[in-house]
Amino acid sequence: MTVVISSDKPRPRGLGAQALIDPFGRVIDYLRVSVTDRCDLRCTYCMLEKQTFLPRAELLTIEELDRLCSTFIGLGTTRLRLTGGEPLVRKGFMDLVAGLSRHLREGRLKELTLTTNGTQLARHAEALARYGVRRVNVSIDTLDPDAYRRITRGGDLAGVLQGLEAAKAAGLQVKINAVALKDDNAEQLADMIAWAHARDMEMTLIETMPLGEIEADRTDQFLSLAQVRSQLEQRWTLTPMVRRTGGPARYVRVEETGGVLGFITPLSHTFCEACNRVRVTCTGTLFLCLGQEEQTDLRSVLRSSDDDAVLEAAIREAIRRKPRGHDFEISRRGAAPAVARPMSMTGG
Ligand code: SAM
Ligand code: SF4
Repeated sequence: MTVVISSDKPRPRGLGAQALIDPFGRVIDYLRVSVTDRCDLRCTYCMLEKQTFLPRAELLTIEELDRLCSTFIGLGTTRLRLTGGEPLVRKGFMDLVAGLSRHLREGRLKELTLTTNGTQLARHAEALARYGVRRVNVSIDTLDPDAYRRITRGGDLAGVLQGLEAAKAAGLQVKINAVALKDDNAEQLADMIAWAHARDMEMTLIETMPLGEIEADRTDQFLSLAQVRSQLEQRWTLTPMVRRTGGPARYVRVEETGGVLGFITPLSHTFCEACNRVRVTCTGTLFLCLGQEEQTDLRSVLRSSDDDAVLEAAIREAIRRKPRGHDFEISRRGAAPAVARPMSMTGG
């Protein structure tokens, strides 16, 4: 097979001939895969109350997901995050994790993680740990059971908190993700951070992103993390940390709690230069940037040939088209989302 390197630029030292390098010299070694668009919750900023889900035949099968992820790993992906929708409601999901764990054992994959709403974590935490998962991100936007039920449209916070206990008992590191929402949790964020840090969990705050159609006008919910940060600074000393993830998160240490706090502000352009990631939707579409439409249909490649070299070539061709940066815009009231596909399809 002819090995095509995705860039004319010299390959950074130490990388194998297989590495994926985009036209801006960025090494793409981080993959996020959405395994389903379905979810047992209906968070107001993410989905419609009466969300329509895709027919099953449109989703990649567990075998196709394994083949796709394994091919990326063969091309230098060292970190893989499985997400959704809710990954733990996908039938066969634990088989996928069990299968992919071979790459951890063989040392090609450094990290296998998932982002989950935590509703099913109590049942699966132990097996996840057994298959080599070390960290999970759990999304909780409030610690008030009524507010939680309202934001998620029916979710039970107590079950999620049990999931956290199970994860910790299984030895998993837990990071809490919370979307900052002007009306629903702005006043509670500091207490949530203190709660997480007291339990040895990192916490990351996320700004709402203009992805997918929802009922509400997103500008009504938008809460700037710059504003949240300056309020937190009235209470605590936040010391910036040097932690390069290649993503939009910026981290600080909260001196008073000793814990780590992340801010994900995807609307800012400050992270694109170091972007190391691509995403695959549950239907096998490779998106080269969360906020751009550049894409490649890998499902048709997966279904048209059993030859992994064909799949590799399609991935390499796509990486050559990775855009320099995203194009989000939330400033115009009532404007259509910058990207029509919801987060639950692309995977957050
Ligand atoms: N269901 C899992 C969960 O909630 O963690 C995984 C998928 S969910 C789409 C991943 C993350 O995206 C969650 O932390 C969620 O809060 C966040 N999210 C969903 N829609 C978003 C939006 N429009 N803007 C910002 N974050 C969003
Ligand atoms: Fe489901 Fe996660 Fe979206 Fe909430 S944010 S509706 S838990 S996919």
